[in-house]
Amino acid sequence: MPVSDLRSGNCPLCDHHEVVEARPGEFGDGSREVGAAVAYEPRWVLGGRNPEYPYGHLSVCFCRACGYTQWFTAEPDKVPIGDEYETRLIEGKRKGPAFR
Ligand SMILES: [Zn+2]
Repeated sequence: MPVSDLRSGNCPLCDHHEVVEARPGEFGDGSREVGAAVAYEPRWVLGGRNPEYPYGHLSVCFCRACGYTQWFTAEPDKVPIGDEYETRLIEGKRKGPAFR
């Protein structure tokens, strides 16, 4: 059974009719904010990932009554897959006709 999408404005757990959408941020040295994302371009020299080049900015939706929460990734088809991005594709069984 599919999970109900909080972006409809209704909570599937408690039936409340108010949902808040928020864009979480991340804070590094000097408290400079960057938008939270699911992946980042690898650095060329220093190693690790570069917060200046994110993929898949995150938004979070939560029910204003019970706090039930769902995360959503922007442009999910554009998030690169690979160890250098610290992402891994997990493929499940295909069900019915493709939706795209
Ligand atoms: Zn709720």
